[in-house]
Order: sequence, then structure tokens, then C-alpha cells
Amino acid sequence: RSMSSLTIPPPAALLRPLEVPNRYLFGPGPSNVPPRVLAAGGRPIIGHLHPEMYEIMNDIKKGIQYIFQTENNMTISMSGSGHAAMECAVFNTVEPGESVLVAVNGIWGERVAEIAERMGANVHRMVKTPGQLFSNTEIEQAMAKHKPVLFFLTHGESSAGLCHPMDGIGDICQKHNCLFLVDTVASMGAAPIFMDSQKIDILYTGSQKALNSPPGTAPISFNERACDKMFNRKTKPVSYLLDMTHLSNYWGCDGQTVRAYHHTGPVSGFFSLRESLAILAEKDLRLPSVTTIAIPKGYNWRELLVYMMKNHNMEMTGGLGPSIGMVMRIGLMGYNCKKSNADMALHALADALKNCKKSKV
Ligand code: PMP
Repeated sequence: RSMSSLTIPPPAALLRPLEVPNRYLFGPGPSNVPPRVLAAGGRPIIGHLHPEMYEIMNDIKKGIQYIFQTENNMTISMSGSGHAAMECAVFNTVEPGESVLVAVNGIWGERVAEIAERMGANVHRMVKTPGQLFSNTEIEQAMAKHKPVLFFLTHGESSAGLCHPMDGIGDICQKHNCLFLVDTVASMGAAPIFMDSQKIDILYTGSQKALNSPPGTAPISFNERACDKMFNRKTKPVSYLLDMTHLSNYWGCDGQTVRAYHHTGPVSGFFSLRESLAILAEKDLRLPSVTTIAIPKGYNWRELLVYMMKNHNMEMTGGLGPSIGMVMRIGLMGYNCKKSNADMALHALADALKNCKKSKV
């Protein structure tokens, strides 16, 4: 057919250039994406089955193992948002008719309960008002009663603002032969979580919150217990796209040398995800209470400290022992740990740098 036979004309809107405002994204996600992560996503596309892509996926896997603090081999990223990971976790580990226990104290538990109901699980909800936490005793009692194969808990409840404690729950799940599934979409990279030592069997997150990547990829990891359950099932998972038998092959987690085509992964999204994981890998282990700062080149650190004491009535100190002459130390502890104090300290430092003489050397 020639162009003249088109009955639907080209949309006028698409003949105007793309407009995207520059905004401060201070909501619960997506968050602003740092320039280097955006730039990573802007690199040329390569094939999703090229060897270089496999290398990038292997790097992503290592990055996820690091941020999850896990040695799990079955660690991948979903091609999709946090919801893809939620469905992947439930669809692969639960068979129709099996019992699932869900802690509901905000929207995310309710969402997982619905996902599990849709695939035919026998769902039991433990319900609290938003933001309330579940005691380990309550969890154990419900587990003994409902004998679930899977227990779901949200770590960072973004609808209610609660960061749920994790300690001891993994042990309870192991005792009751139940898998422990934890949602960290809103908390990963922002609040500490340790998948292996906290005995979490399945953990997932999303790319677009504290990881600072564009929306559309979602890291997930399964331990041995979870793999035992999901690879020894009688029925196939309801979703082909989210089937871990295929995804584990795509991510090189199944020991096969050949990765077969399953679906086309979001190549640019994976580039960005790798970059945001790299940023986390580069972060030092900084002590929150005492900040050490390198002495700026050419300045006498004693002079800076004396200036701030005299003109700003403010104590900071130099290094101690082996760090003498290398660093200055700022302590903002307890009552002193306020943004206004940090601003004051920075202001005093800037003033000292301006007014103390810089030596010629
Ligand atoms: N879980 C939590 C705790 C969330 O905050 C969100 C996103 N608001 C999700 C799951 C769902 O993630 P997505 O919107 O990426 O599908």
C-alpha cells in the first residue's frame, strides 16, 4: 500500500520534539538518576545474546550479590519493574492449592496476596494497620496454624513508612519448612539488609529507588532452599516470561554453557543497572559519627582548626596517631547530629579555607 492510502494521518504530537521537564524527584520513586547512570543507558545497543552482554550480566549478578550480601548463584535481574520480581518469586515457588502466608501492613502485602490468589494459592493474610510491625511470636503462631510454603514480608513499607525488623524470622521459617520472601524495593541500598545471614530465602528489589537507575529492571535472588522448591515442582509456573527455569539459563545460573533465547532483555536498562551497582560498589565504608576529610593541598591543618575555633567558636580536630597530618575529623554525634549543624560546619570550613593562607609549597 502506498502512503496515500493511509487513512490514519501521522499524529501531529509526534512531529513536535520530545519534552521532558527537569524535576526534583523527592517522592517514593522513581528517584533522580545520576548523569553517569543516564550516560550508561545511552551507550549503543548490542545484541542481548552477544558475549559482551553476558559479561555485563555477569557483572550485574556480582553487583546484586554484593548489595544483597548473598553468595546465591541464582541471582539475576528481572526484565521488568518490581512487580515482575514479585510475580516471579510467587509464581516459581508456589503451586496452585499450596498455602501462602502474607504479612499485610500496607499495600505491598495486599498486592502479593492478590498475586498469589490469582495463581491459585491458598492465601492467609496477617493484617495490621499500616505501619504496625509483626512480632516473631505472631509470625510463628500463624505459621504453625497455616503451614505455608511461603511467607511474605515487606522490609521497607513505602506506603506506611515502616522498616520492618528481620532478625529471627528466617530461623522461624526454616523451623516450619517455609520459604522466607522479602520485598526490599523501597529499602535496598538505603537500609541495611543481609540476605544470607538473615536467612532470607528469596529477596528482590527494584532499580528506580535507592539504586538510582531508570525504572524497568528488578534484581532478585533465590537461595538453595528456594531453588529446591522451585525446581522440583509438579506443575509449570503460570508465566512463561517469568519462569526461572528459562531465566536461570538466560543469566548463566544453570551450569549450561549455552544460553538459549528466551526473551529480549532490556539492554539499555541493564547498562544503567550495572552502572548504579558500580556506584554502590565504589562507596567507602564511612563511619557515620566521625567524618574524616583529607586536608586540602597547601593548607596547614592546625591553622584551619585554630581559625574555626577563634572565629566560629567551633571545635574540629586533626588526625590521631597514624592519621596526624593526613585528615581533619568532624564529629556530629547524637544531639549534635543535625542538618543545621552540618551546614554550620561546612560554612565554617569554607570560611577558614578562604581566610587561612595557602602556602606556596
Ligand atoms: N514494593 C514496594 C515496597 C514498593 O515501594 C514498590 C514501588 N512503589 C513496589 C513493590 C513495586 O515496584 P514497581 O512499581 O517497580 O513495580
